[in-house]
Amino acid sequence: MERIYLDNAASRMPTKRALQTYAEYSERYYANTAANHALGIEASAELEAMRERISKCINGSNGRVYFCSGGTEANNLTILGVMSLQAREGKTGILTTKLEHSSVLRPIYSLREQNIAADFVSSRRSGTVNPKDIKMQISANLGLVSVMYANNVTGVIQPIAAIGEMCKANGVLFHADGVQAMGHTDIDVERDNVDLLSFSAHKFGGVKGVGGLWVRDGVKLLPLLHGGGQESGLRSGTVDLPGVAAMAVALEESLAELPEVYERCRKYKRILLQTLREHNVLCTEIGDSKKLPHILCIAFEGINAGTLQLLLSDSGVMVSTGSACSSISGEGNYVLEVIGVPSSLVNGAIRLSFSGSERYRDVWCAACRIASAVKALSRQK
Ligand code: PLP
Repeated sequence: MERIYLDNAASRMPTKRALQTYAEYSERYYANTAANHALGIEASAELEAMRERISKCINGSNGRVYFCSGGTEANNLTILGVMSLQAREGKTGILTTKLEHSSVLRPIYSLREQNIAADFVSSRRSGTVNPKDIKMQISANLGLVSVMYANNVTGVIQPIAAIGEMCKANGVLFHADGVQAMGHTDIDVERDNVDLLSFSAHKFGGVKGVGGLWVRDGVKLLPLLHGGGQESGLRSGTVDLPGVAAMAVALEESLAELPEVYERCRKYKRILLQTLREHNVLCTEIGDSKKLPHILCIAFEGINAGTLQLLLSDSGVMVSTGSACSSISGEGNYVLEVIGVPSSLVNGAIRLSFSGSERYRDVWCAACRIASAVKALSRQK
């Protein structure tokens, strides 16, 4: 049985060019980028070149990319690193949403002991927050606003530019968790007035364990890791140059292919929904706002998504029950609850996410297998 992988928002297969780059850089630039000899200096020059390439992709010349291990670290570094300094100036408030990934929410909750408190902007059924609500909740003691660029469960894109403008006008720092959006939509930190942007290579065709945080010039934050002082002292630890080079290549590739991938993903979605209809299987698409086209969250009333996922896995179709990360920590699908999806649908929601290189007939085949699995589960009730 041929396996069909539709869980690319959890982790994508690295692209061929990214893997080739990884291998080439591992063989050629194996020296430590911090070493003060010819090979180290050459490796360091390559690292700077990759930093520039990544920065260019997000129009980030007014800031710097700091490399780290991925989205979780970049988000922790932002929340803990920014707030520890802001709190010293009496700015002990964070404004965020309940839709954020746990790598934003958990560090925020961990700051409660230091009297740093979070306020949450409410979310609409569409999956978005209203920038006007953010404006109303900006207060004098606010140290940071953190809103994800696009949601990992629904794919809904937040009105980032409007939020950024609001933050800039009020002199508040703005962090966007761009882990799901990077490489999947056009991000421009100037247009969007973003001050800090997190991203992670394995979501857009790079290798796992590599990511970064872009920080606008002048924004101050404290490091989480102390040691050799790499990455201008913000992130100690030997930098993974092959991983960074593969990330830069994958990012450029993703952005270059975006129009074609968008078109293909829209067609996948049409095929999927139409095939389910043809099989008389009813589903509800979650989130009715502007979305990343490669993420499709659909819910089947009265079906248990966990059981459906296992049944599909047995039939060779890999999907997620919302967020892979939340299913590991057993938190359930809080994102859907937050946007007001009824619990009968929340429990039956699966997330399909494409790479853009699936064959159309595989998507059709996946839809047929989903239809049979849903019918089988409905019969068991
Ligand atoms: N932020 C979002 C929105 C995510 O979807 C994820 C992972 O799924 C992360 C952060 C964590 O990224 P990483 O897996 O690179 O730690």
